[in-house]
Amino acid sequence: MFEKILIANRGEIALRILRACRELGIRTVAVHSEADTEAKYVKLADESVCIGPAPSSQSYLNIPAIISAAEVTDSEAIHPGYGFLSENADFAERVERSGFVFIGPRPETITLMGDKVSAKDAMKEAGVPVVPGSEGALGDDPKEIIRIARGIGYPVIIKAAGGGGGRGMRTVHTEAALLNAVQMTRTEAGAAFNNPSVYMEKFLENPRHIEIQVLADAHRNAVYLGERDCSMQRRHQKIIEEAPAPGIPARIIARVGERCAEACRRINYRGAGTFEFLFENGEFYFIEMNTRIQVEHPVTELITGIDLVQEQIRVAAGEKLRFKQRDIKLTGHALECRINAEDPYKFTPSPGKITGYHPPGGPGVRVDSHVYQGYTVPPYYDSMIGKVITYGDTRDQAIRRMSIALSEMIVSGIKTNIPLHQELMQDARFVDGGTSIHYLEQKLADQVLAKAK
Ligand code: ADP
Repeated sequence: MFEKILIANRGEIALRILRACRELGIRTVAVHSEADTEAKYVKLADESVCIGPAPSSQSYLNIPAIISAAEVTDSEAIHPGYGFLSENADFAERVERSGFVFIGPRPETITLMGDKVSAKDAMKEAGVPVVPGSEGALGDDPKEIIRIARGIGYPVIIKAAGGGGGRGMRTVHTEAALLNAVQMTRTEAGAAFNNPSVYMEKFLENPRHIEIQVLADAHRNAVYLGERDCSMQRRHQKIIEEAPAPGIPARIIARVGERCAEACRRINYRGAGTFEFLFENGEFYFIEMNTRIQVEHPVTELITGIDLVQEQIRVAAGEKLRFKQRDIKLTGHALECRINAEDPYKFTPSPGKITGYHPPGGPGVRVDSHVYQGYTVPPYYDSMIGKVITYGDTRDQAIRRMSIALSEMIVSGIKTNIPLHQELMQDARFVDGGTSIHYLEQKLADQVLAKAK
């Protein structure tokens, strides 16, 4: 096992990784920007290194600074968390070339799955069902693009091959809007992801977002750890996640889960990963794979009893998976609400000083957050300040516990989306379970209309 790990991230996930390391008896190095110097989790690490000014381009994305920090602290491995450099194959490669272990898949795997077009091709070959769409990236011939869209049938969605974080997508309802949409997505994708390549998919009108968690070691063993339902989204960004997905029979999950585990063996996958699907009319359609730990990993941890971050570290150290598929048992139900520093209805970011903080607790309540009273939420990074996760024997119990937890939670000085989560816990359609990815946006739009009347 490693003796020392460098955590190349910030906020709640840096603290989450730190906790996993401490439990495994591994020493930690926290790297941080000038904006995060005073954060308490930085002080909890055995060592800390400032890697640059506040903007992430100069700190959390600064590859030479992070590698130098690993060198001066004699770290053995680097955990990238999520976001930032976690899916950057160039970073993974430079980490390994400098003699450190990258806690994640091999750089070639990140490249293969990081391009959504090659990822879809690899999944098709492994027998994983994908969303119908263009064969590979779109070419330049306008006639051909029109022909492909007619073949798929409107509405279609134009997506950036290198996209992420819900950006680089455009829905097209008519042929008249098609070519312009392709051009705009290309331009945006080139600027945002340094990759102008785009592809086309059928736009599914009423799908749910269901994803499968996998874990694989470097010896071609792979298991799936059930599914998560992440359909409650705004602007393609998840805000509530749960496991298991309400109303989907376990045997249907097992069928797609087996295919995902098989795909991992085929591509020689290593580490934790997530296969994301849209689910409509009883069918799964692969959209992309995330080759890292995800924000919503705790809901899976609660229903499987497996610490995913610790397992990531174990397999990175070369250990074999400690369980077979038959050892994995799912019990109970877990829910996660992402707490963001933002206006709950206008969604404008609300950074600033937290003047009062009282986290919830009690049976079945887990809070993953790095904030505290007196902490200042910096304006430079993602607005998520933590996650409230509840567990219950049943989904109803998990929802009840979440309602109580949210009502206990106090975050003053800044605005948060807690009121929106409270409202959703009472929402009849959410309580029934199985809402589509468009549900939240429709609900919010209806509320705006109702107010205008
Ligand atoms: P990202 O990498 O930016 O997260 P994804 O490909 O995972 O992009 O898609 C994010 C979200 O966008 C999905 O959860 C879904 O809400 C929506 N989406 C993506 N593809 C489609 C599609 N073909 N039809 C309908 N919605 C889609």
